[in-house]
Amino acid sequence: MKTEFLSENSAERAAKILKSGGIVAIPTETVYGLAASVYDKNAIKAIFTAKGRPSDNPLIVHISDLKDIENVVSEFPKNAKKLAEKFWPGPLTMIMPKNPKIPKEVTGGLNSVAVRYPSHEVARKIIALAGVPLVAPSANTSGKPSPTKFEHVVNDLNGKVNAIVDGGECAVGLESTVVSTLSDIPKILRPGKISAEDIKSVVGAVEIDKAIFEKPPESEKVLSPGMKYKHYSPDTPIKMVVGDTHRYVNFVNLHGGEDVGALCFDEDIPFLKVPYISYGSANDTSAQSKNLFEALREADKLGVKTLYAHYKETDSLSLAVYNRLVRAAAFNVIKV
Ligand code: AMP
Ligand code: MG
Repeated sequence: MKTEFLSENSAERAAKILKSGGIVAIPTETVYGLAASVYDKNAIKAIFTAKGRPSDNPLIVHISDLKDIENVVSEFPKNAKKLAEKFWPGPLTMIMPKNPKIPKEVTGGLNSVAVRYPSHEVARKIIALAGVPLVAPSANTSGKPSPTKFEHVVNDLNGKVNAIVDGGECAVGLESTVVSTLSDIPKILRPGKISAEDIKSVVGAVEIDKAIFEKPPESEKVLSPGMKYKHYSPDTPIKMVVGDTHRYVNFVNLHGGEDVGALCFDEDIPFLKVPYISYGSANDTSAQSKNLFEALREADKLGVKTLYAHYKETDSLSLAVYNRLVRAAAFNVIKV
């Protein structure tokens, strides 16, 4: 398939391709998404094929106006309404009871549906012009880091999708916070820029799914099917190292040989004796979020056999960084 490369001023063209059954990668404020009409089962199938995504991993439905919600959900829970008022449009996805009109292929057979109202102008324009809600999983090959730049999407999906819209670098850089509003107390299934504290401040209480911290046992049913899959993995095996600058660089230098590299913070650089790539300052979690996926993609270019990734808890956004890194490291965590 020949992939059309579109500029961010080509929302009309992107919408036309979507309306005629195509799949189009679009920029959003979190990461690039691979979009299709929520009602087009063939296009949805094409998304799973292009990404190599397991069919039981449900897709997020994107809307461009709060009015569209009634076509997507069968009930708009009270807490979801409050959270929508505060955080939509923005990087928050909410799980709600599914409207029967939404095909089961979208939700991996679940009776619930994930909904997001993005703030990115181009994304909103394309959804509005397409005239239907759009499904849009991250526009990467399944298992690889999510794409935060046009070039990442081109690397993974050129020749496999109808078009890719260039919207530059994504502002947040990590996927949306996913919160289930199916029970009285909302539960975070995937951490993101909208933190547990943010949600608590609106609805009074919040739970955090334990699958965020630990590898779910094979046998256990997970609330968010996506959480059970291998994720964000560069080809180079990663081990996550938790500790301050001093302890981290000592550990890495001690274990350093020509086969070892560091996925580090800016502050570590002057002390490291191995090849490195930084993903931001230890104290700037916004920068870490924005840079992490690109750094994971770049890490393979270091040509090392083990990558020690530095993690330090700094603030409420750290949990989102932790969640991606611990999966990239297949839950190999070393405390120093
Ligand atoms: P992605 O679109 O690649 O950012 O991944 C979407 C995430 O949302 C995956 O982790 C899914 O498991 C999760 N998700 C989507 N729909 C649902 C749902 N109905 N219930 C629980 N999790 C969902
Ligand atoms: Mg994804």
